[in-house]
Amino acid sequence: MKKTIRDYELENKKVIIRVDFNVPISDGKITDDNRIIQSLDTIKYAKEQGAKIILMSHLGRIKSEEDKEKNSLKIVASYLSKILNDDVLFSESTRGDELEDLINNLNPGEIVLMENTRYEDLDGNKESSNDPELGEYWASLGDIFINDAFGTSHRSHASNVGIASHLPSGIGFLIEKELNALSVLDNPERPFVVILGGSKVSDKIGVIKNLVNVADYILIGGGMAYTFLKASGLSIGKSLLDSENISFCEEMLNKYRDKLILPIDSVNAKEISENASTNECFISDIKEDDIGLDIGHSTIKLFKQYLNDSKTVIWNGPVGYSEIEQFSNGTKELCEALKNIDAIKIIGGGDTAAAVINFGFKDAFNHISTGGGASLEYLEGKSLPGIEIISDK
Ligand code: ADP
Ligand code: MG
Repeated sequence: MKKTIRDYELENKKVIIRVDFNVPISDGKITDDNRIIQSLDTIKYAKEQGAKIILMSHLGRIKSEEDKEKNSLKIVASYLSKILNDDVLFSESTRGDELEDLINNLNPGEIVLMENTRYEDLDGNKESSNDPELGEYWASLGDIFINDAFGTSHRSHASNVGIASHLPSGIGFLIEKELNALSVLDNPERPFVVILGGSKVSDKIGVIKNLVNVADYILIGGGMAYTFLKASGLSIGKSLLDSENISFCEEMLNKYRDKLILPIDSVNAKEISENASTNECFISDIKEDDIGLDIGHSTIKLFKQYLNDSKTVIWNGPVGYSEIEQFSNGTKELCEALKNIDAIKIIGGGDTAAAVINFGFKDAFNHISTGGGASLEYLEGKSLPGIEIISDK
């Protein structure tokens, strides 16, 4: 068990909290504040306990001087200040006098947000390659380190692993919540059904290999289903084909024929476009010039039968090209079905989370993971370095 923020006496301590403020910004406006909202519990708790709070986060990627301007955390500081109804100081530098003075002058309960940790990437990729000097320097600014950035916990960066190597450390409430939810995998109530979709098989090989051992059934939809169908000898027209992984799919189907449930019909179109007209057919009838873009009605019915009996469901990857209305029906229908099913239901995967929230089914799930890549690696059974490094209880 990892230590959490609750395991430390925070009063008067300089507490560095690594948050995930990697929010989408367009025309100088934050277009989705979910990540900021999700960090509030930890920040508020630290404040109540009288910590001197130092917030760090990355935002986007910094490869050139121009990237710095569009990826400044300054507007996040004002946004946070507004929703906390409290002052949030901002350090424009990621090291040096300005930053150190702001930190050293903090009173208990006061908050400073440091500029984007990835500004350090311009000079030798220091943040993203976990430069040892940088991690040690940032650690020297605080007394305790709390990691609450689940979304980057699968990466070993100076602002998580680097700092944690030098300070007593713990996880924040958001990571704690993520780990609690995802740990259903350790001992799932059964039947345990996984819905897997998305685009390429290659993105999900690790997930399939890991979950096939734990799950009772894996319902396969989305673009990746077509490579499985191809591997079982069917013609898939112009549907997404991951030709390098046909033999992997074949091997999986041979080994786990009863566990892997493939679509039996498909919604197709000649082009991936908002104006495309669609046709629906049995999986054996996909025309040469058609692209399979969603599961059909019979597949929805089939998948629902598995879901109806389930006690645990993990869903990664939309079952169709759900960004476009005509191909979103399968994903929506599964959401609708899951809403009424009494099981533990978890969403892992950035696009799946976006789709489910966008379609208005947020409340149908017990947990929607905030970390796209991190939740995927968790589902692959990998350990997450940003959490691994945290002090044990
Ligand atoms: P997540 O981010 O939840 O892990 P992925 O990134 O694996 O999900 O997959 C999401 C993408 O898969 C979406 O952009 C979606 O359009 C695409 N997709 C789903 N079904 C198909 C399909 N039949 N053909 C092509 N792309 C698809
Ligand atoms: Mg994705």
